[in-house]
Order: sequence, then structure tokens, then C-alpha cells
Amino acid sequence: MTRGTQEDLATEAFENYKNFVNPPLARVMKLSGSPVEVRASGTTIWDQNGKAYLDFAGGYGVFTLGHSHPRVIAAVREQMESMSLSGKTMFNVVLGRAAKRLAELAPGDLQLSFWCNSGTEAVEGAIKLARAATGRAMIVATHDAYHGKTYGALSVSGREAFQTPFRPLLADVEHVPFGDAAVLEEALRDAAAFIVEPVQGEGGVNVPPAGYLRAVREACDRAGALFIADEVQTGLGRCGYLFGCNRDEVVPDLMTLAKGLSGGIIPVGAFIARPDVWNRAYAKQPLVHTSTFGGSEIACAAALAAMEVLVDEGLVENARERGAQLLEGVRAIAAEYPSVIAQARGLGLLVGAELAHEGYGGWIIPEMLKAGVTAAWTLNMQRVIRLEPPLVVTAAEVERALAALRAGVATAAEKLGRL
Ligand code: PMP
Repeated sequence: MTRGTQEDLATEAFENYKNFVNPPLARVMKLSGSPVEVRASGTTIWDQNGKAYLDFAGGYGVFTLGHSHPRVIAAVREQMESMSLSGKTMFNVVLGRAAKRLAELAPGDLQLSFWCNSGTEAVEGAIKLARAATGRAMIVATHDAYHGKTYGALSVSGREAFQTPFRPLLADVEHVPFGDAAVLEEALRDAAAFIVEPVQGEGGVNVPPAGYLRAVREACDRAGALFIADEVQTGLGRCGYLFGCNRDEVVPDLMTLAKGLSGGIIPVGAFIARPDVWNRAYAKQPLVHTSTFGGSEIACAAALAAMEVLVDEGLVENARERGAQLLEGVRAIAAEYPSVIAQARGLGLLVGAELAHEGYGGWIIPEMLKAGVTAAWTLNMQRVIRLEPPLVVTAAEVERALAALRAGVATAAEKLGRL
């Protein structure tokens, strides 16, 4: 991909972003010192100058297996040699295998899955199925939720700034506080579904009290509403459980997945449903919800390999252990610098540092980048820095990331002292 000198590459990328992609994003990225990504493997991304970065932004949760996992790449390569995308008129054996494996791993009797290409599409599919299965319209969601940016998913998300320019959104949507089971009884009356993340990722890494999802399950059952667990970010090991719902040992009616599902190699998304729910909507209508690219052979081959790696390499256990180490480390930094970090929280390898002021991230993240560690804001809550490394991360790498965070936070504290 290299053309001209390394400096040329950075200039070319910035100019093209500015002129042909997204001018304000180009400026923000330049200001924060973003280099050009050139190569990635495991927990590391290399820039145009050959500098290595420990990836603690992790593609916002995509790279559960690390970058470019050799087993997933080999599976995709092999699949591409025979057939890449589905011709749609014949059986696609790879889709069938991936769907079967997902059903084996998913909690309870979640069984029938629809495959698409992103998280937001998975959410759209789940909302549509919930309405069709119940004959009801109302979807209840949570404040600060993030479910994607297409119309249905945006309507159930919880950030005004992303919604306002696009109103009117989907009618019959109501938002309730996240983590509060007491409000559900009233809110779910006559609702088609309640959609909720087991841990709110983009909302600022908000971990609900243990038992919340169990209470959600019971409230949905009493109201005849479906329980949609949006596991796009929490699913497949991220939180130290195979699925976020497993923390409370509950089985939702519908679960959405994307991000880590194909091991960070090919875009993929899916929702998986209990058979009775699916049948109530689609038993006689096989073609009312479809996608041309969804369920392609290469995406499904990647997903199959990724699910195997997740289990074979014990990544769920590693996420739990390294997550505990990371959270403890961020808590220690917060205790040292309470004027900069107000609170540290997380579950597994989804950890957030809530800053005392939104602006501090503009000091800390570029400092971390200079030290060779990537980190990111959360989309709905810019005051929270998230640390979301691949689940293959080692104890030594966690310590390196913590050292970079500590240095960034110390710089912020020093600047504050001078103000
Ligand atoms: N749901 C959740 C919980 C997410 O975190 C995200 C992405 N951050 C989405 C849905 C949307 O996924 P995508 O960006 O692939 O559309």
C-alpha cells in the first residue's frame, strides 16, 4: 500500500479525508495526532513510520481475537478460492454451519439466526421481528443506549445529538433509565419489546446491578413483551462471559451480534431468535426480511473460525482475568488523580475511565498515542475513555497500557495545576 515517502502517505491520507471523506473528522484526527494505520497483527497496529501501537481501542470491540488472526485468515482465504459471496438461489452450507455453531454457543433455546453485515442491521432485524411476532408497536429502550445509526436502531438509541437532525424517527419508542428494574412494569405494558445492552458500551461503560437482566426477563414475561439483548459489543467473550446475558444466566428472546463475530476479518452481523418467536413472525413468510450480501460464504467462514478460536484459546477466561487486572489498575490511577478521573468501571475487557471533565480526554488520548497505546472515547458519553483491547491481551501488555494511561493522566493533572 506504500506510495511515496511515509510523510507523503500521512499527507495523502489527510488531504483525501479532508476533500473526499469527512472534512471535520479529518481536522479532529489531525489535531489528536492520528497516524496512518498500515499493518496489524495480534494486539498491535503499526503506522506509516513503523511505530507500533498497543491497540486498546480494539476497533470499538471488533478485534476480540486480535488483528489478523491466522486461523481466521486461513479459513477466509480457503473459502475465497471456491466461493466468496452467496448466489442466493442454492443452499449455502457455510451459512448453515455458522448458524448451527452460533445456536450451540448462544444461551438457552436461541436457535434461528439471520445474518447481515453490521450491528445496526442486526438491531433493525430484531426490532422488525419483535413487531411482527407480537403484533405490537411499542419498543422500549434505555437512556444513553447505543444500537446503531440506521433509522430503527437510531430511534431506540439514547443520544439526542445523533437523533435531532433526522427527526421524525420511528414512532412508538419510549426510553427508560438503564439499570432500573422498577420502571419496567409500567413501561412494558403493551410493548412489543425491550431492547437493552447487558453493559452499555457507548453510553459510557455502564454496568447494571447484578440481577438486572433477570428482572428484565421477568418483567418482559409478565407484559408479554420480547426481551432483545443487544450483544453487539458485549457478546462473544468481551465481558468475561461468552455473552453478557450469561452474567445473570438469562435467555433473551432475541440477541443481536456483530463486531467480534467474524474475528475482525470480514464485516458481519446477526440476530438469533427463539424458534417460537421467529415462527410467530416468519413461519409462512420466508422472504420478508432479506439481505443480498448477508450470510456470505466468506463472512460465515470467518465467523465459524472465529467462534472456534474463541473457545479453543480460552479467550473468555482471559478476558475475565485481564479485565480484572485492567480495572484494578485504572482504579488505582483514579485514586491517585481524583481531579482527573472521577470513576473507573467495567466488566471483563470493557473498561471505562470517567473523567472529571469532558475536555481532559483531549489531553490524555493523544498522550497515550504518543506513548504507543490507542484508546477511544465512547460515542454517547465523551467524558468516558474506554479501554477495550483484544481478548488475547497479556498481563504485560495490560501493564504497558496502564503506564501510558497513568502518564496521560499525570500530564492532564499537571496542566490543571497550571490553570
Ligand atoms: N449495538 C451496540 C451495542 C453497539 O455497541 C454498536 C456499535 N458500537 C452497534 C449496535 C452498531 O453497530 P455497527 O456500528 O456495526 O452498525
